Amino acid sequence: MRERIRQGLFLLDGAMGTELIARGVEAGVCNDYLNIESADIVGDVYRSFLLAGSDAVLTNTFGANKYALSRHGFADKVREINTAAAEIARQAAGEKKYVLGDIGPTGDFLEPLGELKADELKDAYAEQAAGLLAGGVDGFIIETMTALDEITIAIEAVKSVCGQAPVFASMAFDKAGDDFRTMMGVDVESAVAKIVPLGVEAVGFNCGKMLLNEYVELAKKEVLAIRAASSEVTVLAEPNAGKPELIDGKAVYKVLPDDFAAAVGKIHSAGVNIIGGCCGTGPAHIEAAARKLR
Ligand SMILES: [Zn+2]
Repeated sequence: MRERIRQGLFLLDGAMGTELIARGVEAGVCNDYLNIESADIVGDVYRSFLLAGSDAVLTNTFGANKYALSRHGFADKVREINTAAAEIARQAAGEKKYVLGDIGPTGDFLEPLGELKADELKDAYAEQAAGLLAGGVDGFIIETMTALDEITIAIEAVKSVCGQAPVFASMAFDKAGDDFRTMMGVDVESAVAKIVPLGVEAVGFNCGKMLLNEYVELAKKEVLAIRAASSEVTVLAEPNAGKPELIDGKAVYKVLPDDFAAAVGKIHSAGVNIIGGCCGTGPAHIEAAARKLR
C-alpha cells in the first residue's frame, strides 16, 4: 500500500454512520457491533463507496476500543468486533483495493485531566489494532483525535503491533479566530511537530465543523507545516460535507456532491494526496470527487 500511496492521489471513502442509517439502522445503536450482527449492511456500504471510486475503505470500528464499547456493554468484544469488521471490509475490497483499520478516540481524557492511565490506554489501542490486523487490514487510520497525548499513545500502540504497515494520523480541527485548533486547543503546528517524528505514513485532518472554504484554508496550512517538517510524510484530508445545519435536533449536511468535489479539488491542488470524506459525505460525494480529481 505504501508504494501505491506514493504514486499520488489516494481516495478514501465517505461517512459510515449516515450510510448505515440510510439502510435502516436506528440512530444511537452501537455501530461497531453491526460488524457482528449485520455484516451484510456494513458490506453493502463498502461496496457503494468502492463502486463510487474509493481506493480504500475504512473499517467500521471508529468506536471499537474498550472504553467506547463499554458504554454499550461490549467491552469484552473488542477483538471479535475488530476482526469481523476487517474481514467484511477485506471481502468487499478484494485484493486490488485497500482496507484501513479505523481507530477513533476513547471519549475519555488521560490523567490528570481525566481518569485514563497511559499504559492502560496503550494496551487498549494495541488490543484493537491486533484485532484489526487479524482480520486482514493493510494499514491503519487514527482519526478525529483532539488531544496530543491520546493520539501519541494511539500511534505508539498501533506501531507496537502492526509491523511495517502504514499508519495515518488525523486530528479534528475547527476554526478558532484566524487560526485552527482542536477541541483540546491543539494548533496545526503543534500537532505536526509532535506527530511527524513518530514515524507515520500520513498526517492530516478530518471532521470538524467548518465551511468548505475553511477546510481549503486548513489544508494549505497543514501542507506548509508538514512540508517544513518532512518531505516523506503524505498529507491527508477528510473534510465533512460542509457545516451541518441543525434541523429538528439533528445535524443535516446539505453540501452537494459537486461543491464538495470543487473543494477537495482545491485541497488536492494545495498538496494533499490522501482525500476522503467525513460526516455527511455519501457515495455521491466520493464519486464527484473521483471525477474531479482523476
Ligand atoms: Zn466527521
